[in-house]
Amino acid sequence: MDIKEKIESLRKELNDYNYKYYVLDISEVTDFEFDLKLKELQKFENEYPEFYDEHSPTQRVGGEVTKKFTTVKHKQRMYSLDNSYSKEDLLDWDTRTKKNITGTPTYVCELKYDGASINILYENGVLKKAITRGDGVQGDEITTNVKTIRSVPLKLHGDFPSEFEIRGEIILPIEGFNKLNEDRSKKGEELYSNPRNTASGSIKLQDSLEVAKRPLECLLYNVVGDNLGLNNQFGTLEKARDWGFKVPKESKFCKSIDDVLEFVNYWDEQRKSLPYEIDGVVVKVNEFDYQNQLGFTSKYPKWAISYKFKAEQVSTKLESISYQVGRTGAITPVANLKPVQLSGTIVKRASLHNADQIKKLDVRIGDEVYVEKGGEIIPKIVGVNKNLRDFNSEEVIYISNCPECNSELVRKEDEAQHYCLNSSECFPQVVGRIQHFISRKAMDIEGLGGETVALLVKEGLVKDCSDLFKLKVEDVLPLERMAQKSAENLVNGVKASVNVSFERVLFALGIRYVGETVAKKLASHFKSIDEIIKASFEELIAVDEIGDRIAQSVLEYFSKEDNLKILESLKSSGLQFNYNEDENSVASNKLESLGFVVSGVFETVSRDELKKIIKENGGKVLSSLSSKTSFLVAGAKMGPSKKTKAEKLNVPIISEEDFFNMI
Ligand code: AMP
Ligand code: ZN
Repeated sequence: MDIKEKIESLRKELNDYNYKYYVLDISEVTDFEFDLKLKELQKFENEYPEFYDEHSPTQRVGGEVTKKFTTVKHKQRMYSLDNSYSKEDLLDWDTRTKKNITGTPTYVCELKYDGASINILYENGVLKKAITRGDGVQGDEITTNVKTIRSVPLKLHGDFPSEFEIRGEIILPIEGFNKLNEDRSKKGEELYSNPRNTASGSIKLQDSLEVAKRPLECLLYNVVGDNLGLNNQFGTLEKARDWGFKVPKESKFCKSIDDVLEFVNYWDEQRKSLPYEIDGVVVKVNEFDYQNQLGFTSKYPKWAISYKFKAEQVSTKLESISYQVGRTGAITPVANLKPVQLSGTIVKRASLHNADQIKKLDVRIGDEVYVEKGGEIIPKIVGVNKNLRDFNSEEVIYISNCPECNSELVRKEDEAQHYCLNSSECFPQVVGRIQHFISRKAMDIEGLGGETVALLVKEGLVKDCSDLFKLKVEDVLPLERMAQKSAENLVNGVKASVNVSFERVLFALGIRYVGETVAKKLASHFKSIDEIIKASFEELIAVDEIGDRIAQSVLEYFSKEDNLKILESLKSSGLQFNYNEDENSVASNKLESLGFVVSGVFETVSRDELKKIIKENGGKVLSSLSSKTSFLVAGAKMGPSKKTKAEKLNVPIISEEDFFNMI
C-alpha cells in the first residue's frame, strides 16, 4: 500500500468507528486504540501535507480560532414553530390541517430537542458550511466549531443528494453537562446553569479547540433543498440516518391524531429517561405534497406544530432565605433549598423575587416547596405543600435593614423591591457599579475583571469608577494573586479605555434606566455631558423614547454632588464626554457585504429612508435584481414581475419587518 492509500484507509477506518460510536452507539474499539490510530494518521498527515483533507477525522480536534463569525444567509429560511400547550390545541391543528389540503395526511412525531438550532450545508457528500439559525434569514457561520462535534458526519455514506441543507439541534447530553460542571466545581469556577444555554454558548466560542472539549451532539430533523427526490418526512429521517446523521429513533410515524396524542402522553412521562433534555414534541405532516399545499405563515410552517410540556416540578425543603444587594441597591430574596435533582441538574437556590412574592406564596422556612424551571437561569418557587407544614413554623419577617451595610431599607410606594439607599458606602453597590462600568458593553476594560474590582474596593484602593484612572502599578501589586505583568495589563487597560465613545461612557455610569439604547439616544441628542446635565425635565422627555421615568432618573443622578464630583474626575482623566458625529454616521456593519433591492411601498418608512438605513448599516443598495442580490425587500404594491424574477434567481424576498429584524 502506498502512503496515500494508507492515509485514506486510516481515515475511512476512523470515520467508521466514529459513525458507529457516536451515531449508532456501537463501540468496536477502545478509546485507547482509537487514539493510537488517530495519532498514527496525524503523524502521516504531518509528514505528507500534500494529502491534506479538510474532512479528515484529524480535523475534529479543532484548533482554529475565529475572531468574528461571518454572517451568512440561509439558502432557505429557517422558520420557528407554532406552539401548543394542550390536547385541544393539537386537535384544532389537525382539523385546520385537513381543511386546507385535498387528501388525508399522516403525521410524524419527533421529540423537541432542547439546544441550539443549526443548519448544515452539504455539497457532493462533504460538509461545507454550518450556520446558526440567527434571525432565520441569516446566521453566523460556525463551521469549524461544528466540525468538532463527533456525531456530525464530515463525509456522507450511500446515496445522498448532491446538494442539500440539513437542520438539527446541537445539544449537550445531561451526563456530559454534569461532568463539565463537576470539573468546574473542582476548579472553583462558576457552574453552568443548564444544558441548553451551555450548548448554545459552546458553539459560539471563538476557540474551536475549546469547543472540541465539550461533549456536544447534533440531532437532525429536517432536510431541505431542490429536487432531492424525497417525498415524506418519515422516509427522509430514515434516509438521513443512512447518510450518516444522528437521527433519534424515538421519532414515530402516526396514522392519526390519536396516535399523536398517545406519543405526546408517553413522552411527557418518559422524558426523564432520555439522555438529553427535551421540552416537548414536534408534530409534522408527513407528506411533502401536503406540506407544500399548506405552506408557511410569516413565522412558521403551517404543516408543523410543537407541543410544549409543562415545566418539570419537584418538591424540596426551604432551608433558609438570604438577601442579595444589587448594584442599584435593590434587595432580592433568594431561597436556599435542600439540593434536589430537577431535569438533570442539581438545584440549590431559587428566586423569591420580593417581599410581596413571599407573602403571596405564604412560604415559611422549613416548608416543603414546589420548584420549577422556567426560561430563566435560576428556578423559581411556585407553591408550598401546606400539608407538610410544621406547627411551629412562623411567617417570614422581611428584613428591615441592609444585610451588607445595615442601613434601613426603603420601599417606594409604586415599587415591589426594597432598596438600600446607602449607595456610596454599601459594599455590593459600590462593587456592582464599578463592575458595570468596566463591563464589555460599557468601558470594556481589558486586564480587569469583576473579582479584582471587589478586591480593589475591599482594600480601599478604589471607591468609585473615577479612582480606577488613578491606579498605578505599585498600588495594585500587593493585591492577592497579582503579578507584575497582570498589574501592568490592568493599568494599561484602564488607560486605553479613555478612548471609549461618549455614549458608552454614559451607559457605563450606571444611571438607573439608562441602558445602552437610551444612552445612545441621549448622547446623539444632547451631544455632550454638559448639555445633559443642564437639561430640564421637559427637554429630556422631548427626546424620542425618553419617558418620565427615565427623565426623572437622569435628573436625580445629576442632582447629586457625589456624582458630579466623579464626572469632574473622569473628565480630568481624559474620558470622552462629547458625541462624535463622524464615528456615528455608520450605525452598524450588520449588513456588510449584503446587497439589497428595495421595491414597493412601506408602512413605517419611506423608500428613501429605507435605502439610507441599508447604507448606514453597511449594506449596498442595488438598482436591479441579479444573482448577486442578497435580498429583495418587498413592500406593498410590488410589481409581480419583480417577484417572479426574484424567485427565478433564488433571491429571498423579505418583508419590511424581516428587514428591521436583521438590524
Ligand atoms: P421555538 O424555538 O419554540 O420556536 O421552536 C422552534 C425550534 O425548535 C426550532 O428552531 C428547532 O431548533 C427546535 N427543534 C427541536 N427539535 C425539533 C424537531 N424535531 N423538529 C423541528 N424543530 C425542532
Ligand atoms: Zn446596604
